[in-house]
Amino acid sequence: MWLLYSFIILFSALVIVLVVRTLRFVPKPEVPVSWADFKVDEARIIESLQAMIRFKTISYKDKSLENPAMFEDFKAYLKLRYPLITQQAEFTEVGETGILFKLKGKKAEKPIVLMSHYDVVPPNGEWQDDPFSGKQINGKIYGRGTLDTKSTLCAVMESVEHLLAKKHRFNHDLYLAFSGDEETRGPSADAIVQFLKEKGVSPYLVLDEGGAVVEGVFPGVKNPAAMIGLAEKGYINLHLEASDQGGHASMPKKATPITQLANAIQRLNKGTLFKLKKTPATMAMFDTIARHSSAFINRMIFANLWLFWPLIKLQAKKADGELLSLLHTTQAFTQMTGSDALNVLPSKASIAINYRILTGETIDEVVDLVKRRINDDTLKLTVLQGADPTPISVRGEAYDVLSTTVRKLWNDAIPTPYLMMAGTDSRYYHAICDHVYRFSPMTMTKAERATIHSTEEAIRVEALIKCVKFYITLLEDLV
Ligand SMILES: [Zn+2]
Repeated sequence: MWLLYSFIILFSALVIVLVVRTLRFVPKPEVPVSWADFKVDEARIIESLQAMIRFKTISYKDKSLENPAMFEDFKAYLKLRYPLITQQAEFTEVGETGILFKLKGKKAEKPIVLMSHYDVVPPNGEWQDDPFSGKQINGKIYGRGTLDTKSTLCAVMESVEHLLAKKHRFNHDLYLAFSGDEETRGPSADAIVQFLKEKGVSPYLVLDEGGAVVEGVFPGVKNPAAMIGLAEKGYINLHLEASDQGGHASMPKKATPITQLANAIQRLNKGTLFKLKKTPATMAMFDTIARHSSAFINRMIFANLWLFWPLIKLQAKKADGELLSLLHTTQAFTQMTGSDALNVLPSKASIAINYRILTGETIDEVVDLVKRRINDDTLKLTVLQGADPTPISVRGEAYDVLSTTVRKLWNDAIPTPYLMMAGTDSRYYHAICDHVYRFSPMTMTKAERATIHSTEEAIRVEALIKCVKFYITLLEDLV
């Protein structure tokens, strides 16, 4: 009998702990903010972005496909369009395509870096109109780069020009750092970081493209979330090749390069190759956004991850979506090659595999695990381009300034730290700064996000204007 009593007592204690923790799991108190809207030259901003879109600054891995004149013309355009920045800033071209403006502030400490990139991916598919027209239709500007990310570049330049026109003196040295090879993971952003490092610049805040202001991030949260990337996953591309003599398809052997590859793929794809883990940026995200959920059960689960973590893992595996990608290193089979003809056995077959590496793991660990799992020495494994995951930015004063500015512009938005799964140029900046944040200051619907790197990419004019106001407010807030 006492066993039953002990069980009841223990169970009640557990329930009490869970409920108390849930009741205390509420949004952290925030200082109220106020913000007075102001005027910017909207027609000019629209025109600037439209003009930027018209430069076909498409970057390719194969440089011979690029049109260098477009990149030069784009830079020339910036100088013409922003005369005050051009007059007052020190301008340096760094690396292959990097451009850096430096505006001297009242003090040299706590320098700020605002980043973006001016290259774009190819149009990729059929557009209703010319993807480089920059046309404005029904309150939207269309074209490749409108969201990713000539919009933030335009907004950064417009905001600084606006402030200079108002005779604003920046409190801190301000660097505007743009690369023209982000989409191909080119060397320019790294070159800029090396340049800054040599000058002894250690930024107080680095802000690059990243998460946007989005809705529906977490069940039971009605407010939009402003997603601020603290870190990003690493990546590695592996190439796996099988070969033998080939031959005619009328006399096939049981084992061919294709079946060999198929076996390897099957082994790699079985179960979950990479463990699901709690990482700091994702935990910070849960700890921020889950507190706002109106659903008690959700708050209870996330307030008590010490108990419910296995449940989260189970749910993530079942849903096989974004949540799962946040919790482990992902594996995607991408390019495949085989025979050129329908009736010929391939003498070689290959597959490329793209891994996005979770914080805390490394390229070497991934390669090692893949080799062990495949367990076939006859396959040739080549390690292609990759990068380890970035460190995690510290949340401190600089993060607070950023989130306060976010709340000024979007008073219902919840600034939410997170782990970015895509790569950005900002990954290099961790070498010189502990406060590297990835945030594109604009509202984006799911449908709009889907146009990035796809067709019909467009930005709402309203979002573009607000983006400019965000940077102006941020620069004024940095005291
Ligand atoms: Zn981008």
